[in-house]
Amino acid sequence: MTEIFTPPTRFAVPGRIAVGDGTANRWQTATLTEIRRETPRAATFRFAVPAWAGHLPGQHLMLRLTAADGYTAQRHYSIASAPDDSGHIELTLDHVDGGEVSGWFHAEARPGDRVEVRGPLSGFFAWPGDRAALLIGAGSGVVPLMSMVRHHRARDLSVPLRLLVSARGPEQLIYAAEYGPETTPVFTRSAPPGLLVGRLTAAHVAPLLAERPPGGWEAYVCGSNAFAEHASRLLVAAGQPVDRIRIERFG
Ligand SMILES: Cc1cc2nc3c(=O)[nH]c(=O)nc-3n(C[C@H](O)[C@H](O)[C@H](O)COP(=O)(O)OP(=O)(O)OC[C@H]3O[C@@H](n4cnc5c(N)ncnc54)[C@H](O)[C@@H]3O)c2cc1C
Repeated sequence: MTEIFTPPTRFAVPGRIAVGDGTANRWQTATLTEIRRETPRAATFRFAVPAWAGHLPGQHLMLRLTAADGYTAQRHYSIASAPDDSGHIELTLDHVDGGEVSGWFHAEARPGDRVEVRGPLSGFFAWPGDRAALLIGAGSGVVPLMSMVRHHRARDLSVPLRLLVSARGPEQLIYAAEYGPETTPVFTRSAPPGLLVGRLTAAHVAPLLAERPPGGWEAYVCGSNAFAEHASRLLVAAGQPVDRIRIERFG
């Protein structure tokens, strides 16, 4: 007998993911339309979500994969794209070693595959674009911050926005080609010629706080637990009010 289909993983059932009753409680089908490599470990996945209600920069969603046998896995993912009315959203996923969901996306997902999404979620980490934004991220923690940067550009906003982004090296810097003068990269293991290697320090944060934009900065910090603690301590030490630091932890 010829075997016509052998799923390489539990989730590798393109086009055959069970949507079930989910749409009734706001789960929506998202169809993968494009995959773009960002770094050796991260890629952006673009989805068509025709009934997407819109989001604010910084918000995330819940993503659900369902295997043919009914097994499901849910994970939170920040929305990388700026709000628009294209009926599409983009997510950028790091490939976590042994990761169930990120592993499926990086190894198996193909355009045309369908998953489910529910959101947008959490207004706390959202940035409507109405106040000066000081953004600090590490690794894939830059994803929700990039939605803010893209929104700032797309709407040609005049409020100040600055981004400090930490990566191990230039080849691990997600969205490297998109950064402009608003961004300062910090490289912790290897750096291009002329740039120092080292972790985020007070010397990176202080000049930005010294700019003192009208109304002050709203700070947004995103990354692992350890990075979020480190960056928020630096901000407080530099004089940023604690109640104006918003933190999203991926860990
Ligand atoms: C609000 C929020 C937004 C998020 N946004 C993003 C995003 O934009 N992009 C993105 O890539 N991830 C994001 N994450 C992390 C994401 O939800 C998953 O945790 C991640 O993709 C790993 O899931 P997995 O199924 O691949 O791994 P799992 O099967 O859950 O875990 C496999 C192994 O990896 C470890 N692990 C799990 N997560 C991580 C991690 N983040 N780093 C290192 N080790 C880990 C686990 O402890 C376990 O040992 C976000 C998390 C939160 C809470």
